[in-house]
Amino acid sequence: MLAFDTVTKEMITTHTIDIVVPCYNEAEGLNVFYEETSKILNQIKNYSFSFIFIDDGSKDTTLKIIKELAAGHGDVKFVSFSRNFGKEAGMYAGLQYSSGDYVIIMDADLQHPPSLIPEMIQGIEEGYDCVAARRTNRKGESRIRSLFSRTFYNLSNRMTDIELVQGAVDFRIMSRQMVDSILELSEVQRFSKGIFEWVGFQTKWVPYENIERAIGTTKWSFWGLFKYAVDGITAFSVAPLRMVTGMGFFISIIAFIYIAVTVIQTLLFGIDVPGYVTTLSAVLFLGGIIEFSVGILGEYIGHIYMESKDRPIYIMKQTNINMKGTNKKNHESFKV
Ligand code: UDP
Ligand code: MG
Repeated sequence: MLAFDTVTKEMITTHTIDIVVPCYNEAEGLNVFYEETSKILNQIKNYSFSFIFIDDGSKDTTLKIIKELAAGHGDVKFVSFSRNFGKEAGMYAGLQYSSGDYVIIMDADLQHPPSLIPEMIQGIEEGYDCVAARRTNRKGESRIRSLFSRTFYNLSNRMTDIELVQGAVDFRIMSRQMVDSILELSEVQRFSKGIFEWVGFQTKWVPYENIERAIGTTKWSFWGLFKYAVDGITAFSVAPLRMVTGMGFFISIIAFIYIAVTVIQTLLFGIDVPGYVTTLSAVLFLGGIIEFSVGILGEYIGHIYMESKDRPIYIMKQTNINMKGTNKKNHESFKV
């Protein structure tokens, strides 16, 4: 049995892994990222790696540095966008351009420790379709951001059918089958954290300690995160719409009871002059609720509007990847 295991292990020497790295203004740290990650990869036997850097319309010299890396190293591929399309688009493009047996997605700022890669590959060898990293703490993050993030996870898990894991980050390795399934979900407004869960497959979670960004700055603003959270919930659930229905129903019942009581009061005690404050409160309260409900409806209509345009997720400007011979379907769905 043991001899058989050794033989099969030796036979699987040629598994390929693509490492997709979305980059936006990461010029400062990209060389260090490549060095640090390569150091770890060189210690891993039986797999061959290549990098796919996605330059997401960077305004600094990111693309230049990526090209220099590509010129000096055969394992560096890149795709560059015509403008900034966002990390979600970057990840999607990376997956589309990947052809490896497995794909790793990771950030360019070394906040996703490359030292986790061997452990992730081990998980794949154990038979998992996916191994994903999970932060166990939020060191270096503002309290308000942590609180907001926790609230979002709780809300989202209550409202949607998918279960988001607290602290899950976009650092993961996935099988080709899972990658292809993700590519089938070609919505323009992407919420990958949800999509990864939605496609299913067996995921193993690897915990790690959060690392503060050493070089460069985070690309997230508070408003950006808020929009991301709203998109996340509305992309996977119609619960907010049901909430509006429920609220309308509840208010109608209260209004009905109030009317009945007023009518009986009037019949018994004659016409009473209604209080100014009561009327004003009711008008303002209902006004608020109506605005809120219209807002929720608007969110969904906005999503329908954006999706119905059927625009491409990104526009590619330059690449050194030859798509011929790779998955043709992906190639066709890539509209430029
Ligand atoms: N990123 C990107 N496009 C964007 C914003 C970010 O490709 O529009 C990349 C960025 O270069 C980094 C990763 O996404 O590799 C995560 O971004 P960041 O570190 O700013 O996010 P945080 O770690 O704060 O969540
Ligand atoms: Mg980061």
